[in-house]
Amino acid sequence: MLDRMNELVKLLNRYAREYYTEDNPSIADSEYDALYRELIELEKKYPEGILPDSPTHRVGGLVLSNFDKYRHVYPLYSLQDAFSREELEDFDRRVKERFPEARYVVELKIDGLSISLTYHDGVLRVGATRGDGMIGENITENLKRVKDIPLVLDKPLSITIRGECYLPKASFDKINQDRRFNGESEFANPRNAAAGTLRQLDTTVVAKRNLATFLYQEVSPTTCTSQEEVLQALAKEGFSVNHHYIVTSSMNEIWQFIEEIGDERKQLSYDIDGIVIKVDDLAMQEELGYTVKAPRWAIAYKFPAEEKEAEILGVDWTVGRTGVVTPTANLTPIQLAGTTVSRATLHNVDYIIEKDIRIGDTVVVYKAGDIIPAVLHVVETNRHQELVMPIPSKCPSCDSDLIHFEDEVALRCINPICPSQVKERLAHFASRDAMNITGFGPSLVKKLYTAHLVRDVADIYKLTLDDFLSLKGIKEKSATKLIKAIQTSKDNSAERLLFGLGIRHIGSKVSRQLLETFHSLDALRHASFDEIAQIEGLGEVIADSLTSYFAKTEVHELIYDLDSYGVNMTFLGQDSSRSGTLTGLTVVLTGKLEELTRNEAKEKLQNLGAKVTGSVSKKTDIVVAGSDAGSKLTKAQELGIEVRDENWLRSL
Ligand code: NAD
Repeated sequence: MLDRMNELVKLLNRYAREYYTEDNPSIADSEYDALYRELIELEKKYPEGILPDSPTHRVGGLVLSNFDKYRHVYPLYSLQDAFSREELEDFDRRVKERFPEARYVVELKIDGLSISLTYHDGVLRVGATRGDGMIGENITENLKRVKDIPLVLDKPLSITIRGECYLPKASFDKINQDRRFNGESEFANPRNAAAGTLRQLDTTVVAKRNLATFLYQEVSPTTCTSQEEVLQALAKEGFSVNHHYIVTSSMNEIWQFIEEIGDERKQLSYDIDGIVIKVDDLAMQEELGYTVKAPRWAIAYKFPAEEKEAEILGVDWTVGRTGVVTPTANLTPIQLAGTTVSRATLHNVDYIIEKDIRIGDTVVVYKAGDIIPAVLHVVETNRHQELVMPIPSKCPSCDSDLIHFEDEVALRCINPICPSQVKERLAHFASRDAMNITGFGPSLVKKLYTAHLVRDVADIYKLTLDDFLSLKGIKEKSATKLIKAIQTSKDNSAERLLFGLGIRHIGSKVSRQLLETFHSLDALRHASFDEIAQIEGLGEVIADSLTSYFAKTEVHELIYDLDSYGVNMTFLGQDSSRSGTLTGLTVVLTGKLEELTRNEAKEKLQNLGAKVTGSVSKKTDIVVAGSDAGSKLTKAQELGIEVRDENWLRSL
């Protein structure tokens, strides 16, 4: 059993990282919840086996991002969850034993991202994510772009407000439509899209995406005595409050509300994943207190994932950018969560074997994260045929032998020139978060590849106007645009190039962190395993992946080619596509600022393209000095460095 506990902790921590930190979950919430429950049960039975990094003892995810960390003055908690009426009744019993007269406020559980807003004298000073509950990310500038968050309150209140930031369904559909058009990967669901948007370094993207909020908690100080009053006060203060709530002490009424909302939720313009039941009286809440992870005065009822049965007619295997071969089942069409579904993922080969899924089987299908259909399990009693799923031994794209590594659940094609992988790699290289070559999506890649015009990413920079014009359906205007987009991409900051190379485990955030540390691709290429592994938050897997990638001769040649075509290989201090006023400049802040906090000033400088460092040297371009500036200012004057004040910064 201890082995299983160990395994569950590892798995759940991996899924939590994908969900909270990378905004890219690989399993459905309901699957995560089932594994989590299994761990809770085991921990109850074998408390001696509870591991220190068990997710049952921690809130949320890791804080690993390009944003400054923000230590919450009051921690943010998770919620204890329930999946049945019995569990809600247990909760009610526990509360009523202590407070027989307790009433509840029953709210919608908005499926977004927890946020905390701190106002000083009525002015929004800090907006932060929940993070691990104690330390979140300071995303003030991004939250200022969320239109329904007041930047200034009518009254000069100094207060912290909590709530949920979400993406309305219509905005989500629009974003995915655009991403499809640009050949980018789509967001799995509105929650991930909201989380990904709030972690954008480019505030203009945030402004465009129509995020919205529902606020529901005044942390401190509040003059209210009940949760209902809090909701009313928040609405009066100008916050967006969800008015879909009831106040009751009756479990019957709560259950009726759950059933009604369960039926109506598809019509709501935003996603909800359940209902939150909170003790109304704030004094009672305080008495009931908290566990390490969640308040004892609230519980979240989670809706079950919608499931339907369908028959597996066949299976397609496709090869992705990294060579992973993924099975997709073709199904008899079913209506699921609002759309017709005729294909569903089978995840990987180990999943098929473990669940013994066969062609002709009737299976249960559900929508992972309510968006991507997936096969859950076989309805064994309905099995008519014994047709075992044909597991390929050869790559469906290049016919080379497939490998099933011991530590992996998937089959992999390791042929570096496998056409499917090459095409996926080219599209990834050009995608928005990588080199951002507008118009260079999968369908263009396919045409160029078939016409033998591109084989590796360096070939993109050899393409001429005539090459594009030789392709069917490409006219002069779009060919010119493509050439221009390719030229522009050469000036990207090098973290985009690194991400675009598609190295295993090197996502866009890690790429940025690496380039911030090493400043150029060349320095990174020559960095040792230990130098990479010891960077905070990275570790051995990333170091191993990078050092083995850069050791390959064909990689040396590729980098040489890219360099000779004029592709920038250095870190420009910011996302160069934002071409800020201070792009490429190194700025040092010193002294006390009047209007801006140190973090706000830093964020502003970074948003304008500057690299902000802590000490003055010959490499410093500008020093922004506030009052009482000391030795840094003196040094700047000695070195003849330009000195500016806070007004200058604010005027930019
Ligand atoms: P949670 O989302 O289940 O509940 C707590 C959160 O609910 C709060 O932090 C708050 O942000 C939110 N909330 C929304 N409306 C609210 C309201 N009206 N009042 C109060 N809070 C409200 O808990 P969690 O710790 O954020 O996440 C755990 C859940 O995340 C899991 O149960 C699982 O479903 C999902 N998860 C999924 C994966 C995956 O890989 N798919 C991984 C990790 C977690």
